[in-house]
Amino acid sequence: MTGLMHGKRGLIMGLANDKSLAWGIAKKLHEQGAELAFSYQGEALAKRVRPLAESLGSDFLIDCDVSNMEALDTAFAQIEERWGKIDFLVHAIGFSDKNELRGKYVDTSLDNFLMTMNISAYSLVAVTKRALPMMSAGGSIVTLTYYGAEKVVPHYNVMGVAKAALEASVKYLANDLGPQGIRVNGISAGPIKTLAASGIGDFRYILKWNELNAPLRRNVTIEDVGGAGLYLLSDLSSGVTGETHHVDCGYHVVGMKQEDAPDI
Ligand code: NAD
Repeated sequence: MTGLMHGKRGLIMGLANDKSLAWGIAKKLHEQGAELAFSYQGEALAKRVRPLAESLGSDFLIDCDVSNMEALDTAFAQIEERWGKIDFLVHAIGFSDKNELRGKYVDTSLDNFLMTMNISAYSLVAVTKRALPMMSAGGSIVTLTYYGAEKVVPHYNVMGVAKAALEASVKYLANDLGPQGIRVNGISAGPIKTLAASGIGDFRYILKWNELNAPLRRNVTIEDVGGAGLYLLSDLSSGVTGETHHVDCGYHVVGMKQEDAPDI
């Protein structure tokens, strides 16, 4: 199975380092012949992202903070200028004040609620709107979400509410863009130790709990997520849109602690 993405070009948003979910997806896309551009948030990340992009044959790097609409306009203008069209987009971005990713949801501040919703949910709408004119021949957009959107996961708090909005956005965007042959889907990934995840209170406990209680009795890897990303971004999933696809070793189907799971 080679060359599934041959001749396709796309933008990866949200690569921070080689632990990022975006990296798992980018590697699989590159293996299958895709041409990639990367956006990153601020110069501090550029020195990490550049060598990773180069290792996948890309010199196309764009500085873009998704909470800044002018920065988004500039970023997409750069892609338009260099490529004219794109076939796919990966949105792997989320952020909240880590002081509110512990304790109780009821204590969420208005400022952090709005910021979290803006960066973690609205930004999918903002990037989709700007990608549209470059997807005249159809396309595929994938975002990353988490089970905390569906069920309460202690400490996930406002991020769970933002992910619920993100998953609803996937459905509304899929319906808006379907007539143009553009598909929009989400991957609901199981917990993986990344920079963003390290901000979540008691994340090690969440990891252990999932490992012991998921049907596959392990945690997912960024390679697992990458494989699902490749499927959703390639023509293999040509009939799939508006979907939240779980890549969580089956954790979301389980209703209670496994009999063989030790206490932790
Ligand atoms: P990560 O830290 O590697 O990636 C998060 C990215 O978001 C970083 O590249 C960061 O620069 C970017 N970002 C944050 N604010 C931004 C802004 N204003 N503008 C532009 N970029 C911004 O962590 P990750 O875990 O790979 O996160 C990627 C996505 O996967 C997130 O949406 C996250 O919620 C989701 N996710 C993660 C897990 C997990 O357990 N790690 C599970 C399910 C879903």
